[in-house]
Amino acid sequence: MTSKILRAAALPLAVAGVCWVSGGRFRSMHTEDAIYPSAGLTARKSLSDYGPGLRGTPGDTDVYIFQGETTGAVLLILGGTHPNEPAGFITAALLVENTRAARGKVVVIPQANHSGFTHNDPFEGNPQRFSISTLEGERWFRYGSRLTNPVHQWPDSALYVNPSGQKLAGAEARNLNRSYPGRRKGGGLTERVAQAVMELIRVEAVDMAVDLHEAAPEYPVVNAIVFHQKSAELAAMTLMALELADLTFRLEESPPNLRGLSHREWGDHAGVFAFLFETANVSHGRLKGRPSAALITEGQDPNYVKAARIGRLFVDFDEEGIPLRQRVSRHVAALRALLDSWKELYPEKPLDVHGWPDAAAIASTGVGPFLHPPK
Ligand SMILES: [Zn+2]
Repeated sequence: MTSKILRAAALPLAVAGVCWVSGGRFRSMHTEDAIYPSAGLTARKSLSDYGPGLRGTPGDTDVYIFQGETTGAVLLILGGTHPNEPAGFITAALLVENTRAARGKVVVIPQANHSGFTHNDPFEGNPQRFSISTLEGERWFRYGSRLTNPVHQWPDSALYVNPSGQKLAGAEARNLNRSYPGRRKGGGLTERVAQAVMELIRVEAVDMAVDLHEAAPEYPVVNAIVFHQKSAELAAMTLMALELADLTFRLEESPPNLRGLSHREWGDHAGVFAFLFETANVSHGRLKGRPSAALITEGQDPNYVKAARIGRLFVDFDEEGIPLRQRVSRHVAALRALLDSWKELYPEKPLDVHGWPDAAAIASTGVGPFLHPPK
């Protein structure tokens, strides 16, 4: 009798055990990543301060403001539009932890698609987290998904017609970088996030906005600066400054018929100088081998070495790989070059930013020494 009861209970108990373990894993993705702002922070806001419809939703996210002593130009930096592109998020977090503005204002949103950080893509097998060694201990960060969590925006329709009228696959309704300029009402969570970013650009009187991304090495727009046509002069000067520093980037003008993207709609609807930077990340490439936290941070993969040898990549790639420190370094170098170009072209609207780590130092020593130790 007892053995019968035990046998009957075994399966439900095993199922409950699996649910308990996997439920814990799912829940752990809702633990926020710690970011420790620099002493230069003058205000910490929420995206819902600009789009009240986001308040209390998983789309709300932190906005860090660094206001200089005197007014000047305003720079907006977005990381985490795609939470599976960690160099964008980590660069933004690094800047939050180091920025001091002397003249003008810097606004940073490290996790633009906050919901996308609460899950990662099924079937990709990516780890949920990766770590960076600081001078005193490890900091852990989530590796999320390109898209808003379906738990927060569901279901996907077969077809998504974005606010600019472009027809896309249904799941793209959860892609923040297809949802601009957003919708205040009637749209999904992702469109409300996009609308709040547009409103922030208006309220904070942003002059220049940069969306930090990564792309697979086999994707043609990689190691690139994508620019709205209004920003062509700034983009060209930035490219020249980077080339003088021996950093190769390609310039890509934002195609006018590709709608819903930050570099297109920020420029068209808000009139800002809009940019998107791309570095090369093997961990979301299609040719990657076994996913791991090391693949994210070290960026080494023998499949990509082979692909480079037969000319299938748009970046140089060898056994050294493309580590996170190099990708963050490139983002910081491009941002610094953009600021220098701004100074040359628009001296009447100053933007003096201090405290940013030197890009070459990030590439050689890693990001960790420039992040606060864990508290
Ligand atoms: Zn991206």
